[in-house]
Amino acid sequence: MRNIVNEKLKNKIKNMIINQGPIDLSMFMEICLHDNDFGYYSLNNQVVGGKGDFITAPEISQVFGELIALNLFDNFKNSKINKINLVELGPGKGTLMNDILSTFDKIKNNNISINSLLFEKSNHLKSLQEKNLLNHQCKWIKNINEIPNLPTYFIANEFFDALPINQAISKGGLWHERKIDLKDDNLFFSSGKKLSNQPKENPYPDGRILEERLETKNILKIILEIILKNEGSLLIIDYGQTNDKILNSNSIQSIKDHQVSSIFENLGTTDISSWVNFSDIIKSLPKNINIQGPITQREYLINLGIQERFEKLGKNKSSLIRRSLFADFERLVSNSYMGQAFKVMVLSSKKLSKFTGFN
Ligand code: SAH
Repeated sequence: MRNIVNEKLKNKIKNMIINQGPIDLSMFMEICLHDNDFGYYSLNNQVVGGKGDFITAPEISQVFGELIALNLFDNFKNSKINKINLVELGPGKGTLMNDILSTFDKIKNNNISINSLLFEKSNHLKSLQEKNLLNHQCKWIKNINEIPNLPTYFIANEFFDALPINQAISKGGLWHERKIDLKDDNLFFSSGKKLSNQPKENPYPDGRILEERLETKNILKIILEIILKNEGSLLIIDYGQTNDKILNSNSIQSIKDHQVSSIFENLGTTDISSWVNFSDIIKSLPKNINIQGPITQREYLINLGIQERFEKLGKNKSSLIRRSLFADFERLVSNSYMGQAFKVMVLSSKKLSKFTGFN
C-alpha cells in the first residue's frame, strides 16, 4: 500500500515539474503533506503516537495536557476572564484537547465557560479527533476567522513546524530561489532565479541557506489580530532554535518510523517539517504584544511542577509502573530527548496577566 502511495505521489510531482518546471519547496511540502489522495496527513492515521512516525508530548503522557490546562486556568483566573474561546491549531489525534478539557472538568466549581474549537486541515485526522473528543463539546473550524468575539487562547503544539516553508540558496554572491527539480527520474534540489529582493544576509560562501515561512506569517497575523481585538494569547510549543547562526541553515527534516530520512524518499508516507524560527516570529511582532519565553520545554514543565505530578502518580504503584512513568517523564524533559530542542513561548495581549511558568 505504502509503495503505491509513494509512486503515485511521485508521479503527480514529476508531472507537475515536467509541465511547469521546477517547483518551490513550499509547494512540494504542501503536496507531500496534504494532497487529497496521497498526502501524509490526509491518509495516514498512525502519523503521531507510539506506533506512528513521531511521538508528540501529549501522546507520551496525559501529564503534559494536565499541566497546560492548569497553566491556562491560572491565567483565566488571574486575568479575571471566565468566558473563553480555546482554540487548538493542528490537534493531531485530539489527545491534548481531551486532556485539557478533562482537567478543567475535574476542577470543582470552576465557573468557566469554554468554547473549544479545533483548527484542522486534514479530514482524516478530524474524524479521529471527533472520536477521541466524544466526551466533550467541541467545534471544528476551517478558517481561523470563524471565531466568536471572546477572549481567545490559542494552543499550537507541533503545529508551526508542519507548515510549508521556502528556501533560498547563495551562489556567486547572490541569493537564489531553491527549487525542486527532476533529473533521470530523481527529484533533487536545484537553484532557480535570483531573488529580486536580495536579503541582507551574507551570501558567502556559496551554498548557504535562508528559510522563509510565509504560511506561518499569514496565520500569525490573523491570530494576533484576534488577540489584540478580543484579548487572548498564543501558546507555542515546538522544536526550534533561537540562535541566529543555527537558524541560517537548512532546517527541513523528514521523519519516518522515528528515524531521519530523505525528504525525497517515501513521498506521502513520511513526515516533512522544519524547525520553528522563534527569533523571526519575535522580530515580526507588533509592540503591543507581550512575549514570554522562549524557554525550553524542560524549564517550562519543571516550573509547572511536572516532577511533583509524576511522583504523585507513581506513589504506591508497582516498580514496573513507576519505571514506565519515569521513562515518560524523561522523554518530556530530558535534554537528549524533547527537553532541550523543544521551546515554549507565549504571546499575549497586554491586558492579560502574565503566564506562570516562565521565570
Ligand atoms: N498537535 C498534535 C499534532 C501535531 S502534527 C500533537 O501534538 O500531537 C501537526 C498537526 O497539524 C496535524 O493535525 C495536521 O493535520 C495539522 N496541520 C498541518 N497543517 C495544517 C494547516 N495548514 N491547517 C490546519 N492544520 C494543519
